[in-house]
Amino acid sequence: MPLRGFQMPRIDRLATVYVCHPLARLTGWTWRYCVPVLAYHSISENLFGKLHPYHQINTSASVFALQMRWLRHAGYRTIDLPEMMNALATGRDLSKTVVLTFDDGYQDFYTDAFPVLKQCGFTATVFLASDRIRNTAACIEGADYLTWCEVRELHSQGISFGSHSVTHADFRSLGPEEIDYELGYSKETIEQEIGVPVESFSYPFALPEEDRDFTRYLADILENLGYKNGVSSAIGRAKPGDTRFFLPRLPINSWDDVELLRAKLEGGYDWLHWPQWFYKFAHHNVSLMAGRSHDQVGSTK
Ligand SMILES: [Zn+2]
Repeated sequence: MPLRGFQMPRIDRLATVYVCHPLARLTGWTWRYCVPVLAYHSISENLFGKLHPYHQINTSASVFALQMRWLRHAGYRTIDLPEMMNALATGRDLSKTVVLTFDDGYQDFYTDAFPVLKQCGFTATVFLASDRIRNTAACIEGADYLTWCEVRELHSQGISFGSHSVTHADFRSLGPEEIDYELGYSKETIEQEIGVPVESFSYPFALPEEDRDFTRYLADILENLGYKNGVSSAIGRAKPGDTRFFLPRLPINSWDDVELLRAKLEGGYDWLHWPQWFYKFAHHNVSLMAGRSHDQVGSTK
């Protein structure tokens, strides 16, 4: 794939392509029961400055088109989250299935991603921070967002929509009432606009999965509000037994050439969940030892 610029050394890429992917292939039976849920953001050149490839979230339109055509050529078909949950629960063979998700609701989903998805016969779920979607195109912090009119049009063409909160808040800094508002009002607003129940949620920012009290608390609210499933930034493929509101995903960006994309789809990237989890766990405990209360919900329970 035509990737521009100098590619910085990537331990995650080397370990994935040359060690973990070959190992994952040796235990290929797991392919049938694990589903790669790909996490895209903006389909554009990098909006957020020069970051290490691991941290970038944008996928250029040309690389995105190549990735989709490769998926199609390789025989992948897309399913949506409810179908995936159903299939995971019933033990159905899920080989060569993939779920495509797009966080934040950038307008380039309409202009650059959707035409390619349509050509390939693929579907996707877009997670909206409802306050950033307006009746006229809004440019917030340098990025353009979908309009409600575009959301309705995309929905009529088979695209699913989920909640990504109201304000794209960092939930760790919110109190219980604010969390209720972020989860409840975004759901309500999107439902009013597209006329169907919103059942999927995408956690904004990094999921504090090491804080079990917090994730359990959040899962209870999601359940009570009528959500049925959700995705997170935890790395990995979705599998039976995962917490249904914080399913792991595979982050994708412009640096995912065919070799790395294929390795991710086939389980070669799942190992990164452990260093990711350990980093969060260590960070969480250092914060606790430093006596910093960064969890208002925890402190009120
Ligand atoms: Zn987001």
